[in-house]
Amino acid sequence: MLFSSKSAPSPAQEVLRSVFGYEQFRHQQQAIVDQVIDGGDALVLMPTGGGKSLCYQVPALVRTGTAIVVSPLIALMRDQVQALQQNGVRAEYLNSSLAADEAFRVESLFRQGDLDLLYVAPERLVTPRMLDLMRQTELSLFAIDEAHCVSQWGHDFRPEYQQLSILHECFPAVPRIALTATADLPTRREIIERLNLQDAEIFNSGFDRPNIRYHISENQGNARDQLKRFILNNHEGEAGIVYCLSRKRVEDTAEWLNKQGFTALPYHAGLSTDIRQENQERFLREDGVIVVATIAFGMGIDKPDVRFVAHLNLPKSIEAYYQETGRAGRDGLPSDAWMAYGLQDVITLRQMQEQSAAEESRKRVERHKLDAMLGLCETHACRRQVLLRYFDEALDEPCGNCDNCITPPQTWDATVAAQKALSCVYRTGQRFGVNYVVDVLRGVDSGQVFERIQNFDHDKLSTYGIGSELNQGEWRTLFRQLMAIGLLGVDYEGHGSVFLTDAARPVLRGEQSLTLRKMPKVDKQKTRKSNVAFSGGNQKLWEALRAHRKTLAEDQGVPAYVIFHDATLAEMVERVPQTLEQLGRISGIGERKLDAYGEGFLAILQEYHESAPVSDTVSDTLVLLSQGLTPLEIAHRRELTLNTVYRHLALGIERDEIELEDVVELDASELEALGGAFSLSEQGGLKAVYEAFDGEYDYGVLGCVRAALRL
Ligand code: ADP
Ligand code: ZN
Repeated sequence: MLFSSKSAPSPAQEVLRSVFGYEQFRHQQQAIVDQVIDGGDALVLMPTGGGKSLCYQVPALVRTGTAIVVSPLIALMRDQVQALQQNGVRAEYLNSSLAADEAFRVESLFRQGDLDLLYVAPERLVTPRMLDLMRQTELSLFAIDEAHCVSQWGHDFRPEYQQLSILHECFPAVPRIALTATADLPTRREIIERLNLQDAEIFNSGFDRPNIRYHISENQGNARDQLKRFILNNHEGEAGIVYCLSRKRVEDTAEWLNKQGFTALPYHAGLSTDIRQENQERFLREDGVIVVATIAFGMGIDKPDVRFVAHLNLPKSIEAYYQETGRAGRDGLPSDAWMAYGLQDVITLRQMQEQSAAEESRKRVERHKLDAMLGLCETHACRRQVLLRYFDEALDEPCGNCDNCITPPQTWDATVAAQKALSCVYRTGQRFGVNYVVDVLRGVDSGQVFERIQNFDHDKLSTYGIGSELNQGEWRTLFRQLMAIGLLGVDYEGHGSVFLTDAARPVLRGEQSLTLRKMPKVDKQKTRKSNVAFSGGNQKLWEALRAHRKTLAEDQGVPAYVIFHDATLAEMVERVPQTLEQLGRISGIGERKLDAYGEGFLAILQEYHESAPVSDTVSDTLVLLSQGLTPLEIAHRRELTLNTVYRHLALGIERDEIELEDVVELDASELEALGGAFSLSEQGGLKAVYEAFDGEYDYGVLGCVRAALRL
């Protein structure tokens, strides 16, 4: 080893490396894992894809006894157990999907202390039989996943979760860790109270999902075409979820997408269990499948490589929107949340709400939630800032990764137009729907509509024909916005007539002006290529690795990502390891997977290396280096940036094709100091080390040093 500053790894770190194949804990994982290993309770708030599972899986393997994991969904349990078994972990699950003899087998493994983790459905956990079993076995910890299910006001409320307080009463000495990705302040309080977690340490990693790009556009009456364009421009051949409000819309949209050449499958509660299961299975296992679904789909879908989530209807709340869009990009690679919504959405949701049989107090909460959601749609500010503020989290700078940041929306002074609209609603008696009011405003003077207008004497109103400056679509947009910001309400009976709210008065009287966002005529979202895009020979290697992964997955009847994630394959393509040892250093390859799959993947990588090394751009850089050129000279010669050249050199070092000394001259004490700084920096980030030395070493040089350290 080049440096000696690293101390012996802790048991947790050893498990992370040897079982899961990861070099470092992320963010707060280390602290959480330590807390639980030491026997303390923890409440973990971490965004989807943040890495919650490891927070209890690692302690489960470090502590003695079996860890009990409470998880609300059967599909999720099976996925997680399969993934753990792939890593050589002794994990099983107990739920209603198991046949009696299978359940019996699992129970006896548990009783004999032969399980590291046991996943259990909540309703089963609190049965006398299960409690009895647990008393007879040594337990390492309780993990309560999706802990927000305990909240009565939440959208995933599960009454069984409320009985989980019994765990603390029956097993006070067993540490508990509750985890969730969707807890606002009241929900957090409810979790603590209901699960008796008053003494738990709270780990709040915030809610941000930086790899998700938010985009909300107006449904211009052709939402499907907008969707198609979005998918073709950004995610051709990739997996995604399209949410619709009604079953009918789900069916129609899936059919339409299929006609357009996509592989789209419907999913809603009206389909038989068999079909639902089959479609879900295909989504998990095949590449590039799009599921078109009602909100019944998604909870418990652990698929890490969902590249986009699209909404063809407006969700009821920011929580729902955030949870649904959160199913994109669990693997941390760039992903999109895309939505098209229109006037009809606002009307439908407002009406559904008013007609619901819920108590007034609950209705008030729901109204407030919808208002917040509409506020997000109509904002001119950074979407991420608005989203995070809703969860009481501040983001100081606009994110640069949402539609409003990328293409700042234009705004206009809508005060006069709004006054016309509002007063026309008032003068027609607050008894008509938007279409009619718009016809009056625009002064329609022929056909049936005109007859209707004449019948009501509305052609004599002062507001008749005062709105010729906007076309029909523009007026509808304005009405939607007035409804969204609460100046107009929709009637309760469901006829769709609109009325003025108290908030409309200041605008009507001219005491308040109104600035609204202009809707762009065309979708101007910047497109990006597929996330794991390679060219030339790399593309072939990528496909060969994926094909091999697919065969392995099919043989075992598991989803491809349970074998290896895309990110792991992408790293193989980038580094082209040539020995088992080099392969084992790639993130996501633990000892068990290296044993089981190493040879197969290595054969492909070696064959590629032998047949195509010359076309490899990294090799070209290394050849020039061996001819005595400096990195800067190589950059000029190859017309690359200096950064790119250094990245090639770092890869050369990692592949053991060149030495660090070939690139930079550093003396022993410098190396020692840099080694120390890297072992301190979280996740081996370059920035921290760069700053620790006040910029004395370039990023390029630091990248090479880090590469040498990895060896
Ligand atoms: P969550 O349950 O919070 O949505 P997961 O536990 O499914 O997130 O983790 C998301 C992804 O991140 C998984 O692919 C997981 O393997 C990966 N991951 C988690 N922790 C680490 C780590 N320390 N290093 C590398 N990858 C990690
Ligand atoms: Zn933004």
